[in-house]
Amino acid sequence: MLFAPEPLAPTLDSARRVLKQYYGYDSFRPMQADIIESILGGRDTVVLMPTGGGKSVCFQVPAIVQEGVCVVVSPLIALMKDQVEALKANGVSAEYINSSVSQGEQNSIASDCLNGYLKLLYVSPEKLLSEGFLQFLRRLRISMFAIDEAHCISSWGHDFRPEYTQLKLLREQFPQVPIIALTATADRLTQRDIQQQLRLNEPRVFLSSFDRPNLNLIVRPGQDRVGSIVEFVERHPNEAGIVYCLSRKQCETMAEKLKAKGIRAGHYHAGMTPNQRGSVQEAFLKDDLQVIVATIAFGMGIDKSNVRWVIHYNLPKNIEGYYQEIGRAGRDGAPATALLFYSFADVMSLRDMLTKDNPSLTQLNLTKLERMQQFAEAASCRRKILLNYFGETLPQDCGNCDICRNPPTTFDGTLLAQKALSAVVRTRERASIGLLIDVLRGMRNQAVLTAGYDQIKTYGAGADLPYLDWYSYIHQMLNDGLLYIAYEEGYALKITDLGREVLQGQRTLAMKKFQPAEKAEKPTRASKKAAAAAQAAKPVDATAALFEKLRQLRKRIADEQNVPPYVIFTDTTLQEMAAERPVSRVAMLAISGVGMKKFENYGDVFIKEILAYGGAPNPADTEADEPEDIEEAPAPKAPRKKDVGDTHETTLQLHRVGLSVEAIAERRNLSPGTIRAHIETLYAKGFPIRLEEFLTMDEFAEIQTAIGQLGGSPLLRDLFDHLREKYDYFKLRLALHYQKKLRGE
Ligand code: ADP
Ligand code: ZN
Repeated sequence: MLFAPEPLAPTLDSARRVLKQYYGYDSFRPMQADIIESILGGRDTVVLMPTGGGKSVCFQVPAIVQEGVCVVVSPLIALMKDQVEALKANGVSAEYINSSVSQGEQNSIASDCLNGYLKLLYVSPEKLLSEGFLQFLRRLRISMFAIDEAHCISSWGHDFRPEYTQLKLLREQFPQVPIIALTATADRLTQRDIQQQLRLNEPRVFLSSFDRPNLNLIVRPGQDRVGSIVEFVERHPNEAGIVYCLSRKQCETMAEKLKAKGIRAGHYHAGMTPNQRGSVQEAFLKDDLQVIVATIAFGMGIDKSNVRWVIHYNLPKNIEGYYQEIGRAGRDGAPATALLFYSFADVMSLRDMLTKDNPSLTQLNLTKLERMQQFAEAASCRRKILLNYFGETLPQDCGNCDICRNPPTTFDGTLLAQKALSAVVRTRERASIGLLIDVLRGMRNQAVLTAGYDQIKTYGAGADLPYLDWYSYIHQMLNDGLLYIAYEEGYALKITDLGREVLQGQRTLAMKKFQPAEKAEKPTRASKKAAAAAQAAKPVDATAALFEKLRQLRKRIADEQNVPPYVIFTDTTLQEMAAERPVSRVAMLAISGVGMKKFENYGDVFIKEILAYGGAPNPADTEADEPEDIEEAPAPKAPRKKDVGDTHETTLQLHRVGLSVEAIAERRNLSPGTIRAHIETLYAKGFPIRLEEFLTMDEFAEIQTAIGQLGGSPLLRDLFDHLREKYDYFKLRLALHYQKKLRGE
């Protein structure tokens, strides 16, 4: 039998308790608290937040706190199902009604609503607007309407849904009920449409930053994409990801290549039946498939929080689409990668496509493509460019894109440019990029010979440089305005006035050194051997191995209950468990993402798994359980938090979203040495630090041997000398801390 839940006082304080009790989170993200205050104050509210920003909490928590039921309008069945499943897993009473729900079930949901048992009811706009349903709603006590994916109301947007425009009826028929509109689209037209069409009454508008600092942005030249992607996936075993391709054919071929390597991959495109697509999507949600290779038809309405990477096989058409697609990675806030392959050939085929597509929009679309191309070719912080596009400015470079991690070095490229420019002139401005490079490099292929380019003076003048280097330099010359492409003349390269000045020696040119992919992306792009070593090194912290165990346990439970694994716990929560190894109730409840309901349901099995693995790294964690009632007592603080100051906390947060020491130092305007000291303190105090980033298994083994040779607890100075200054003090100290943990000290 069901009982109507006791109403709580609608204050921010009770909202905080609800956040801890049901979601297992210690605090609101900055904007969430303000939004919830506005909603609790009965104001109409507009929330503009990027994907993964935490919009759901903004209306769900007030819904739980307030009396009555919150009616949520959501455009997609899959989305509703996901959200309701997640709510139920957290112990919140929620249901959805749409065309997939039987009449019998609808009746029972309706009576739960009337009894005041339900806190949230999700409906499709079609269902909501049907006359019978509106009448039914009039009999309920409604706390608020939440309009999810509110941009669907705007005909300017990409997801326009005509039914959404009818939602103005809600204000007419329920003038007293506040309306909350939420979307991840931030442009002004859409924002205006939302306010006007929903007839919002002096709404408070919350526009959060669209920055996603945990996404590592990488662009790589589009050479050997298939090989590179296979290698990438092999280096990220068990990490879910999406590869976006432009064509169905590419999509199928790529999936086959991955499968041939034993990777659990599937493809997804508009040419498949709804059934086929449904089952591929389901398998991906359940982690049965690791990789989906998809055309852009995939991803809308997918709430999977543990997508760890998104790869673009081709250049996307515009930055909006790109941003939306990479936004599907790392929704749980843990580090994630967005890798884009860029080749000029993509620009050409996209140009062709866009010109044919829709003549009235051609100019706009081509301009958007140009901005996308600029992003791909950029030599400065990519996140700055991205945020700039959305009207936001980032005060510092981000530290988490390929350019920030490996800033390009410049050199005097005048002579190099002159060779290329001279070749352009001598081929009478008829050669395209590929052909020009062949001429410069003295290739003897059909195209070169037929045109007689092997006879010109600059033939072979650039034979000392590989193809990719030339490719990069000619692009820089295009970007710098020395050359341009005559699209209508078979993409022939033409020289500009500026180009002539450089050719004639009237002006010099600084160029950015070309960095081959391996070097350009140190942290993730390593040789296969290094990758294997890294794998072997991971158990240094034992965290990765335990994480894997917990992940498998989560998968078993998810399969039993027929829900996606991330509904049980997110990756971030499992990572924290693996690092903290909580083996008591208090310690487990202190893990972010473990609420009361989840603790009741899964706490014991996860604690057992952790104990079987070796238990708490920190003896303090095994202390006897004090009985503690979470509903009355303040949320149990993680024992560690009070141990360090705010500055350490900040470093920890940046470390956890994947930033390197150098990047953190740059962001915080502190020295790398200071950040290293923070890391060391944090690690020593048992915070979740990814040790493998700073110390490999081999290194630890060598240091351990040295400690053994010196005997007892050697002085750091002696250890340093004994190892002939091979390891700095930072590594040595980390190794000592790690050894202590191994011994259970
Ligand atoms: P959106 O709907 O904006 O895309 P979600 O509501 O799905 O984002 O939230 C993204 C992730 O962040 C989810 O895993 C969610 O549980 C988590 N999250 C939301 N709010 C908080 C918070 N205050 N503390 C920790 N995690 C949070
Ligand atoms: Zn950057």
